[in-house]
Amino acid sequence: MNWDEWNDDDDIDITNEGTDVAVDEHTHVADIHHASFKSLALKPELLRALDDNGFEQPSEVQHQCIPAALLGNDILCQAKSGMGKTAVFVLSVLHLLEPEEKPRHIRCLVLCHARELAFQIQQEFNRFRKHFVDKVDGSFLIKTKILLGGTPVRQDRAALNSETPNIIIGTPGRTLQLLNEGVLNLDYLKFFVIDECDKLLGPESADMRHDVQRIFYKTPHNKQVMMFSATLAEDVRDICKRFMQSPREIIIDEGKKLRLHGLVQYYLQLTEKEKTAKLLEILDQIDFNQVFVFVSKFNRATTLNGILVDEGFPSICLHGQLNQTERLENYKKFKGGNEARIMVATNLAGRGMDFKSVNVVINYDMPVDEDTYLHRVGRAGRFGTKGLAISFISSPEDEKLLEEIRKKFVVDLPVLPDTIDKSLYMSSL
Ligand code: AMP
Repeated sequence: MNWDEWNDDDDIDITNEGTDVAVDEHTHVADIHHASFKSLALKPELLRALDDNGFEQPSEVQHQCIPAALLGNDILCQAKSGMGKTAVFVLSVLHLLEPEEKPRHIRCLVLCHARELAFQIQQEFNRFRKHFVDKVDGSFLIKTKILLGGTPVRQDRAALNSETPNIIIGTPGRTLQLLNEGVLNLDYLKFFVIDECDKLLGPESADMRHDVQRIFYKTPHNKQVMMFSATLAEDVRDICKRFMQSPREIIIDEGKKLRLHGLVQYYLQLTEKEKTAKLLEILDQIDFNQVFVFVSKFNRATTLNGILVDEGFPSICLHGQLNQTERLENYKKFKGGNEARIMVATNLAGRGMDFKSVNVVINYDMPVDEDTYLHRVGRAGRFGTKGLAISFISSPEDEKLLEEIRKKFVVDLPVLPDTIDKSLYMSSL
C-alpha cells in the first residue's frame, strides 16, 4: 500500500460539516475572525479552493499568521489545537510558491513527528492546490510527496529520481536518510516548516532533534522558517528560535487560554480493575459520533480494542507497533467515519491528527503530563465544535496530574455526573 496513492478527495468527507462555530456559551467566538480570506489577498486559485472546501472566514491564528508569513517572515506560532494551524502554512506556502517548469526543485519541506500527520498535511496541500493546474493537460502544477519511515525506501528513491516534487512532507528519519544518500536535494529550498515543533525539538526528543538539525544544515541559509504547536514551553521556544532569523512570535493562546471552549471535561475516580467495565458502560450510555480512547501502551491498546470488538463496538486501534499497512488502513477507516467509530490509541494519535467527527475523548489511562492531556483532549471539539473529555483517575500520580491540569488550564474538571446533557457535547443539538 502506498500512502501517496490515496486521494483524500475520493474517500473522505472533506466538507466542513460540524465545523460551524455556533455562538453559544461553549464556543469561543474570538477564535474565528470576522475578516474574510479575500482581505488576506491570497491568490484567486486559493480563494476558489477555500470556497470549495467551505472555509468562510479565517480563524484567529490564520488571521494573525498568514499576513506575516506572506511578507516572508520567519514564524514561531503557538495557538490552540484544532483551530487551523495547518492551513496557515499550507495556504502561505501555496501562495508564495511559483509553479515552475521542469526541471522542478524541492521548494518546501514540512517535518512532523508521525506518519499519519504527514499524510494528513499532504492531503491539506492537495486539496488547496487543486486549482493550480496546467492549462494544456489539466495536470497539477504543484506536486507533493510524503517521506515516511516504515515504508519501502526504494519506492521513495525511485519516485524522487523520476519526478521532483515541489513540496515534501516527511518524518525526520527517512528525510535525513534520503538526504544523506543524495537522492533528496534541498539546495533550492525556500520554506522549512515544522509542525508540532515542540515534539520534534523538545527535551524528550533528542534523536529527532538531531535529525532535524542535520537536515536543517543541508538547506540554504536564505529560506523562510515556520514552526507551530499548541504547546510551546519557554525553553523549547528558545531552541526553535535558533533555527530562525528575527522570527515573528505569534503566541495566540497560552496557559489558561489554551482551554478548548467547546469541550466539557470530567474525571472519574476508579480502580484499574474497574476501568474496562466503566468504559463499556459509558460507551453504551453516551451519544457519540466518534470516540478516541487513549491508553498508555501499545499492548493495552491491542487488548482493549479486542474487548471492544468482542462486545460488538466498531472499534480499531492505532499505535506504533502496527505495521505501515495496518496503520494506514486503520487511519483511513477512522477518517472515513463509517467503518470505525472508536479508536483505541496511544499518544501516537494524540497530536495534530484531525478527525472532524470525534466528539468524545476518553483517557482510559492518564497521560504523563498536562501538555499531552491538552493535545489528547484537543482531538474532540475541533474548530469550535462541541466535545466531551472523560479521564479515568486510578493512581496518586493521576490525581496529581489532574490537579496540575486544573491549575495550568484553569478548568473545573468536575467528577463525571450520572447523566450528561447531550447538548453539551453534540454539535447538532
Ligand atoms: P488544524 O488545527 O489545522 O488541524 O485544523 C482543524 C480543522 O479545522 C481541520 O479540519 C481544518 O480543515 C478545519 N479548518 C481550518 N481552518 C478553517 C477555516 N478557516 N474554516 C473552516 N474550517 C477550517
